[in-house]
Amino acid sequence: MSKPSYEEILDIKRKINISDIIRDYVPLIQRGKNYFGVCPFHDDHNPSMSVSNEKQMYKCFVCGEAGDVFNFVKEYEKISYYEAVKKVAEKAGINVNIDTNFKPKTNNIFSRQYEIYDISNKFYQNNLNTTLGKTARAYLKERQISDEMIKHFQIGLSLNDNNLTKLLSNKGYDDDLLVKSGISVRRNNTIYDIYRNRIMFPLWDINGKTIGFSGRVYEGNDQSKYINTMETDIFKKGLLLYNYENARESIIKQDEVIIVEGFMDVIRLYSIGIYNVLATMGTAITNDQVNLIRKLTKNVILMFDGDAAGGKATNSYIEVSKNIDFDIKIVRLEENLDPDDYIIKKGKEKMLEHLAHAKSLFDYKLINSKRNLNLDNPEDVSKFINQIVKELSKINDDIVFDLELKKIIKLTGVSEELVRSKIKRDTKKNVVEKKPIRKKVRESKYDKASNLILYNMINNNDIILYYYDNLSYLPNEIDRKLASEIVLFFKKYNSFNLLDFITYLEDNNELVKRVSEIDDLKIDKISTKEEIDEYFETIKEYTKKKQIDELSEKLKNETNEVVRKELAKKIFDIRIKENK
Ligand SMILES: [Zn+2]
Repeated sequence: MSKPSYEEILDIKRKINISDIIRDYVPLIQRGKNYFGVCPFHDDHNPSMSVSNEKQMYKCFVCGEAGDVFNFVKEYEKISYYEAVKKVAEKAGINVNIDTNFKPKTNNIFSRQYEIYDISNKFYQNNLNTTLGKTARAYLKERQISDEMIKHFQIGLSLNDNNLTKLLSNKGYDDDLLVKSGISVRRNNTIYDIYRNRIMFPLWDINGKTIGFSGRVYEGNDQSKYINTMETDIFKKGLLLYNYENARESIIKQDEVIIVEGFMDVIRLYSIGIYNVLATMGTAITNDQVNLIRKLTKNVILMFDGDAAGGKATNSYIEVSKNIDFDIKIVRLEENLDPDDYIIKKGKEKMLEHLAHAKSLFDYKLINSKRNLNLDNPEDVSKFINQIVKELSKINDDIVFDLELKKIIKLTGVSEELVRSKIKRDTKKNVVEKKPIRKKVRESKYDKASNLILYNMINNNDIILYYYDNLSYLPNEIDRKLASEIVLFFKKYNSFNLLDFITYLEDNNELVKRVSEIDDLKIDKISTKEEIDEYFETIKEYTKKKQIDELSEKLKNETNEVVRKELAKKIFDIRIKENK
C-alpha cells in the first residue's frame, strides 16, 4: 500500500479525539465544550488556540493556523501528511499498515537486505571488543574517539577472515543476496568477506536502519583510506543524509541544522556537544536531501571542508536550495581543514566561535562577487554592483538591508541614491511574484456575499447543488476553489459534513484554513432560498460589472468604427439583462 485512502484516514479520525492527541504536545485547559492552549505556531504566551472535539478541529485566533488532528501533527512535527496520519494512528493504538512517503518499500528482498545489514553491524561492533580488536581500539583512542562515541555511532571492526560471510550463510542468506548486498565478494565460485581489517562505520537511512558501511584502514599503507558500500537497492547515495535519525530531535528543538561533508565531522562535532549535524557524505546535494532537511528546520549552517572542493560544494548547495525558503549561513574553515581535523588541531572553542559567527548568505556572496574584481577599476565596480544588487533586493529585514547597503557603499564609494535606484528597478520585476496577503477584514458586498454563500453551502446540503446549478462562480480564486471542492465532495459522497471534508482536503492548507474561517463566521442562522438568491444576484452583478468594465476599456482604445459599434452593443445588451 503506497498511501492510505481517504476512507482509511477518516476511520482513524473517527476513532480518536483531537484533544487527546494535541494534549501530548500542548497543555490544554477546558472551557465549556472546547479546550484552549498556547498556540505552538506563533510566538505567544496566551491560550489563543482552541481545540474542538465536536468539530475535530483546532484553530488559532491570532495566527489563523487551523485544521484537523493530522494537520496539527504534520505542522508540529514537520513531517509529511501521511507520516502524521501514521503517527496519530500509532498514538491512538490503532493498527494501520501505512507506508509513508520515503520509507523504501519493504518487500521481501529488501527486508532480507536490512536483516543482513543489521546482523553485520552487530557482528562488527562485537569484533571491536575482542582481543583481536586491541590495535583498532588503540587507534581510535589516538584519534580521540571515546568509548561513548564508539557506542553512539556503533563503530565496529572487520577482521582478516570470512566469519561474517560464514555466519550469514549459516543463517540461510543465499550467496547471491550476500554479494548483491555488498557484504561478500565472489571469487572462483566461493564467497568471501569484502571488508577486512577496517574500522567499520555504519551508514543509516533516514529511519535509522543500517544500509551500508564505510570501512577505514587503520594499519599498513592501504591506498584507499575509506571504502564505502557500493550502491544497492537500499543504499542510495543521493538519499543518504548521515545522522538524520539521530539528529532529528536536536535539529527540531534548536531549529537549526549544521551540514557537513563527512561522517567523521559529525562524530567529532558530537564529541564537543554539537548534535544537530547532518553529513552529505561528500556526494552532490540533491533535491531529495534538501527537502528532507526543510522538513526539520529552515535555518541551515553550511560547514563544508575548507578546501576548494568544499567551496564548490557550498555553492552547489546554495544553488540547489535557492527556491526553498532556507535561511542559510556559511562557515568556511581556514587552512583547507575539514571540521574533524579543525577541532583536533584548533580546539573546541575556535570551532564554537566559527559557528557563532557564521556568515550570512549575503556576506558570503559579497565576498565571492568581489573575489576576482578590482574595486579601484570603475568597470569592475559596475559589474560588482550589478551582481550584488540582485542579492541585496532579496533581503526582507529592513535593518539587515540597511547595514548591508552601507557595506556596499563603503566598499565601492558609489552613492546611496544610485544603489537604491538600481534596487528599485530590480525589485519591480519581482513584485508580481509575491503572493497577496489575504486581508483580515473582508469588506466589499461581494466578499460578504461570497462568505454567506460558502457558509450556507457547508451548513445546508441543499445549497451545494443549488450553487452548482445557478452560479458556480465566485470572484475570489480561493473561494471559487473551495466551492468547487465542496461540490465535488458532495457529488462523490452524497452528503457533506465539515469533519469528513477536511480529511478529504488532506494537507491543502489554503483551503483548510479558508473553510475553517467560513465555519467560524458569526452568523446566527442559515439563509432562506430567497436570501441565497440575493447573494447570487450580488455575485452576478459583480461579474457583469467586471465584463462592462473590460468592454468599456476596450471601447476606449478601439479606433475601428465597426468594432466600436459591436462593443457598444455588447455593453448595452449586458445592461438590458441587468434591468430585467
Ligand atoms: Zn497561532
